[in-house]
Amino acid sequence: LEYRGAVELIRGVNIAMIFLVGGSLVHYYYQASLEARKRLLMTANFDSLTRLVNRRRLNEVAAVAVAQFQRHHRPLSVLLCDIDHFKSINDRFGHHAGDDVLVGVAKVLMDCTRTTDSVARWGGEEFLILLTDTELNGAQVIAERIRRSIAAEPMRSEQTDIKIAMTLGVAQFTEGESFSNVVARADAALYQGKARGRNQVVLAEP
Ligand code: GH3
Ligand code: MG
Ligand code: MG
Repeated sequence: LEYRGAVELIRGVNIAMIFLVGGSLVHYYYQASLEARKRLLMTANFDSLTRLVNRRRLNEVAAVAVAQFQRHHRPLSVLLCDIDHFKSINDRFGHHAGDDVLVGVAKVLMDCTRTTDSVARWGGEEFLILLTDTELNGAQVIAERIRRSIAAEPMRSEQTDIKIAMTLGVAQFTEGESFSNVVARADAALYQGKARGRNQVVLAEP
């Protein structure tokens, strides 16, 4: 009888061990997959250098804003911002300093906009800002504030102060237009600003 009791006890302990080990394995893999999912969402939506949303994510946000425009006629504007002569900043101070400038510019753009706006790294040294509930005049005010802040405050990289400037194209979304079209109009305005001598804000034709 005592012998059978011992066998039962060992069996019980074995079963308990199986549940304990199995359970902690399930827990471990569940946590690991949550972490992997979080990292995947980060890299899918955010730029790793500046931590701004990337182009892919901004297009998603824009689709929602365009729907809001169509349903509730909430005005919507975009700013396309491009650092002036950025290539020569890289050439003079190095690529690493160039990266520091991009991070500093991203911070200024975030500081000059509202939390309901979206600031994206659109390309290498190009940023796109989506301004919700904002008409062309309001967008121009914000663009000018950004331009002035960027030109006034040199960026720091290690011990060096780097003076930069930025040209901005501003466009307001119009009825029946596609998002890529309003961006193209902002881009054309930006291009005009570059041709006219840079460090300026140019409004797009409707
Ligand atoms: P413009 O005033 O006409 O805009 O002149 P620009 O020199 O800014 O324009 P251009 O398009 O000729 O050069 C853009 C440069 O941006 C070239 C590229 O090496 C640099 N760049 C793009 N992405 C990055 C990045 O992630 N880090 C750094 N350091 N440089 C970058
Ligand atoms: Mg540039
Ligand atoms: Mg550019």
